[in-house]
Amino acid sequence: MIVIMGIAGAGKGTQSKLLAEERGWAWISTGELFRAAIADGKYPDYFRGKLISDEETINLLTEALHKLDHSKEVILDGFPRNSSQTKWLLSESGNKHCGEIIVIRLLISKEATLERLKLRHRVDDTEEAIHQRFRDYDSESGPIVSLFEEHGTRIYSVNADQTVEQVHQSILRCLAKANILTHEN
Ligand code: AMP
Repeated sequence: MIVIMGIAGAGKGTQSKLLAEERGWAWISTGELFRAAIADGKYPDYFRGKLISDEETINLLTEALHKLDHSKEVILDGFPRNSSQTKWLLSESGNKHCGEIIVIRLLISKEATLERLKLRHRVDDTEEAIHQRFRDYDSESGPIVSLFEEHGTRIYSVNADQTVEQVHQSILRCLAKANILTHEN
């Protein structure tokens, strides 16, 4: 499993989709899972840019993971977002749904992502909701990375303030280093 981490607007969705399409891998975005489910009036926190409860998030993610073809690599986008989600994911690592976990961090300044978010028209891209997501990322990303490091997870950082293609190529180089790119996949 490849976990893609980054602040709102860093390009997690764009890069995950691109990679999944190019390699024929599976892509799971917890944000997309929620977007598909909010039509029923569920998850009011979504609109405020607030995190949805760990229980609801993990339930939705588990359901999606169970539907996958486990011979394929999985790209996980938007999860984990806090320490308890990270602990849960690490407890699952090595099983048939996750395999070995590696982490790719998309690094970009808030100023640069704000410019990108202005061009996007999502219901949770109001100024307040964006700042809420930034605050959560600031407080949670450090502990998440530490937990992965303590577990011995390989973590790669990519400069995300480049063109889509340049970021994609940087990600491919990380995956080659991690021996994830092989002839079979
Ligand atoms: P994203 O598409 O990753 O920016 O996520 C959009 C919204 O979905 C977030 O602001 C949260 O409300 C919700 N969400 C996505 N992933 C998670 C997660 N791992 N834990 C809790 N809420 C999440």
